[in-house]
Amino acid sequence: MKAKTYQCPCCKARIEAKLLKKVSSLMPVDGLAKTPSMSIQEAFLAMLSSPLNSYQWACDECVQSKKATLANPKKQFYTFKNPWDTAIPYLAYFDKTFSCQQCSTDFVFSKEEQKHWYEKLQFVVYSKPIHCPSCRKEIRAQKNRNTELSTLLKDGQPNNVDQLERIAEIYDELGKTEKAKAYRNAANKLKKK
Ligand SMILES: [Zn+2]
Ligand SMILES: [Zn+2]
Repeated sequence: MKAKTYQCPCCKARIEAKLLKKVSSLMPVDGLAKTPSMSIQEAFLAMLSSPLNSYQWACDECVQSKKATLANPKKQFYTFKNPWDTAIPYLAYFDKTFSCQQCSTDFVFSKEEQKHWYEKLQFVVYSKPIHCPSCRKEIRAQKNRNTELSTLLKDGQPNNVDQLERIAEIYDELGKTEKAKAYRNAANKLKKK
């Protein structure tokens, strides 16, 4: 009889159970219901061959060649109580490509970043990056500009040249040239005094 094979989500090769030692060693993960009639290993293999399987795992060869990194489910934020079963832990990480929701550029969500997201920052396992790194940077900069602006303006218009010039600069960066001009004029007036 031919041995049953499983398609590795990382290298896409069909592999036999004997090349699943590393991910199998992570089983059972906390919260997973036990199947009374099967061993942990059997239950895991049955799960991987189920059409409903949505585990992210990798074969031993992918882990050995560092194409994939073994995950640590204990450090992740997941639950099996979710009725849609979308919050299952990662068993391995490998680079994935997403499309940016803002500029539509493809970007790589690397295995190292994934480990950082799910195990260090403990983002819930179904959260995914929606923006490419340069859009993320721009969004962050925009947020910082807005925060700085509201700090500078919290007591009304400042009576200080540096602060007025900084406000003008921020308005320029935000594309509000009229406001920028008004603050630059106010700064110049103050300088002349
Ligand atoms: Zn593989
Ligand atoms: Zn983008």
